[in-house]
Amino acid sequence: KTEALSEEDMIGYRKEHLGRSLSLSYSQPLHIVRGEGAFLIDSDGRKYLDTANNVNHVGHQHPKVVTAGQRQMAVLTTNTRYLHEEIIAYSKKLLAKLPKELEVLHIVNSGSEANELALRMAKTISGNEDMLAIAVGYHGNTNAAMGVSSYKFDAKGGPGKPETTHILPLPDTYRGRHSGNEGDNRYAEYASELIENLKKSGKGIAGFIGESMISCGGQIVPPKNYFKEVYKAVRDAGGICIADEVQTGFGRMGKTFWAFELFDVVPDIVTMGKPSGNGHPLAVVACTRAVADAFNTGMEFFNTFGGNPVSCAIGRTVLEVIEDENLQDHALEIGQLLKSELQKLQQQFPIIGDVRGEGLFLGFELNTSKKEPLPQHADYLADRMKELGILMSTDGPDYNVLKIKPPMVFSSENAKELIKRLTTVFSEDFMQHYDN
Ligand code: PMP
Repeated sequence: KTEALSEEDMIGYRKEHLGRSLSLSYSQPLHIVRGEGAFLIDSDGRKYLDTANNVNHVGHQHPKVVTAGQRQMAVLTTNTRYLHEEIIAYSKKLLAKLPKELEVLHIVNSGSEANELALRMAKTISGNEDMLAIAVGYHGNTNAAMGVSSYKFDAKGGPGKPETTHILPLPDTYRGRHSGNEGDNRYAEYASELIENLKKSGKGIAGFIGESMISCGGQIVPPKNYFKEVYKAVRDAGGICIADEVQTGFGRMGKTFWAFELFDVVPDIVTMGKPSGNGHPLAVVACTRAVADAFNTGMEFFNTFGGNPVSCAIGRTVLEVIEDENLQDHALEIGQLLKSELQKLQQQFPIIGDVRGEGLFLGFELNTSKKEPLPQHADYLADRMKELGILMSTDGPDYNVLKIKPPMVFSSENAKELIKRLTTVFSEDFMQHYDN
């Protein structure tokens, strides 16, 4: 048993002995000791409704997922150089959820690792180094993934954009460079322009990486034809198209199982993480047979933990629970309810500038009447909501977007509770003073 530590002791120890760039949420950090469904519970037994955690996808500590992990852990965990049924069972179940063109899997341990491998595939196959990526995108903490993550390399303390990365503007139709209908065609045109410029300097493109709904960018929904056009420009130039579904996948969109399906495209490579293992480190790279064949240069791909029987048993169970509990349909239903309630709130409180998203991947932003972002109001809202027992996260290039992406078991009761508490906080003095 670990000895009891005060919260001050833990904060002090972290500062001294854990990486200095680790952060803690909230100025008064939470000491969470247990999870259950859509709730997190602190050391005093206080329950918080979690609207932000898209990792514990089928609910915190879902009993079936926990049991699957415990059972397999008691029997065997080894690497993929031995035959085992679990990796086959998991692969079959996951591939059944993907378009038929995506038929080969590489199983890894984190979203970063998945994107690192996807980038290596694109570079190996094309023989090029240069990548297109979307502004304010985040794809992971490894070197290559960081190199296409403008959310990090352009942020405070970041190293700046690598020469081989070319950034498309955030396709934000509400407050972006080409807002309104004008953006519908214009945003995708940057892809061919950047590829043209590259050609002029004698270089080719390795590929494009992007989330189909852009989470760190502030729950951005790109225009309907955006990916069709970007993918076409990239493929015409011989590049590989990678869809990062680490945040958006596994039924969260409600209408579709993957976010790219909302845009009628089929990527060459799809990367998955966060929800795949419901909190257990499990991530996947799915690709076409052509990509898998071209990547198979003769050099072995080996991953000590990736695809081990414990991870695969957990991953398979997550997919089973999504089906058994109809969580994709549930995301559609609760998402629509929540979105329409948020739109009603927007009528009542004009500080809410925009409400957007699909399924249980929603966002709203706080602005002045001139669409100037209000990050302090977003912070105030998140802090006050925590005091009222609800956890929310803020993001976007101006940190004025509240992101809603709860465990998929989020119920209509939970949605009503969220709206009730938001109404309370929006009615408070601080939230009423923002225009100048
Ligand atoms: N891609 C996206 C879209 C992400 O949001 C994240 C994590 N926030 C990653 C990749 C990296 O995943 P991980 O932290 O599991 O390495």
